[in-house]
Amino acid sequence: MTILEVRKLNKKFRTDFYKRPTQALKDVSFSIERGRFVGFIGPNGAGKSTTIKCLLELIFADSGEVLFFGEKFNLRHKAKIGFLPERPFFQEFLTGQEFLKLHWDLAQMPRKDFPKRVEEVLQLVKLAHAKDKKLKEYSKGMLQRIGIAQALICAPEFLILDEPMSGLDPDGRILIKQILRALKEQKTTVLMSTHLLEDVEEFCDDLLVIHSGVLEYSGEVKGLQKNY
Ligand code: ADP
Ligand code: ADP
Repeated sequence: MTILEVRKLNKKFRTDFYKRPTQALKDVSFSIERGRFVGFIGPNGAGKSTTIKCLLELIFADSGEVLFFGEKFNLRHKAKIGFLPERPFFQEFLTGQEFLKLHWDLAQMPRKDFPKRVEEVLQLVKLAHAKDKKLKEYSKGMLQRIGIAQALICAPEFLILDEPMSGLDPDGRILIKQILRALKEQKTTVLMSTHLLEDVEEFCDDLLVIHSGVLEYSGEVKGLQKNY
């Protein structure tokens, strides 16, 4: 089953009237099948975040088509798609658990199911001990993990992680990798952007390689190793 189908996305940014606009995305097309762990790699400025923002309609593409589960993005998809933004907004006076409850409520999930689900997710991201601490007391690594917990809280069918390893020290990265390993075992469908190939080698079935807004490879990791 196809989870995501992207056809010919184009996006230009105009920063200055007198300059030519930057073409951030040029005819980007790909699809993602259920159960696949897909790495989205390319150097900084290649167009990864722009693609992800266009998928979720946080910004609008100039042209192209995006289908989740065979339909255009709509409100019902909010609970089915988990998203870790590159720079998530953390309400620092909320506790970890209150932060997750906020996202649960925003997705209009049933209140009664929250206590069980929040425990599962806190276990997975190793923050059970810190659930009643305020986010302003969290370290960078803890914030990144509560950000992933936020993306997972509604048990999404599809998870989009934008640079989940960025800015973390080696210990922080090890903890994120443990979470990714668990997601892979559960056969969660994942799209994960990163600028480091080493971050995807262990987890990814498929790869999307983007460079200057052009998708240069889309297929199995194995195929890429043969071609390069
Ligand atoms: P990334 O690491 O994904 O490239 P940036 O730090 O470039 O992210 O971007 C941070 C924010 O600024 C994003 O919301 C992005 O859309 C916006 N942005 C990125 N590049 C530019 C630019 N050249 N001019 C204006 N805004 C930008
Ligand atoms: P990546 O996520 O791969 O690092 P981005 O998608 O953030 O790359 O950026 C792709 C290109 O689009 C870059 O040249 C960036 O500067 C530009 N860009 C991104 N967001 C904006 C924005 N809001 N305004 C102007 N330019 C932008």
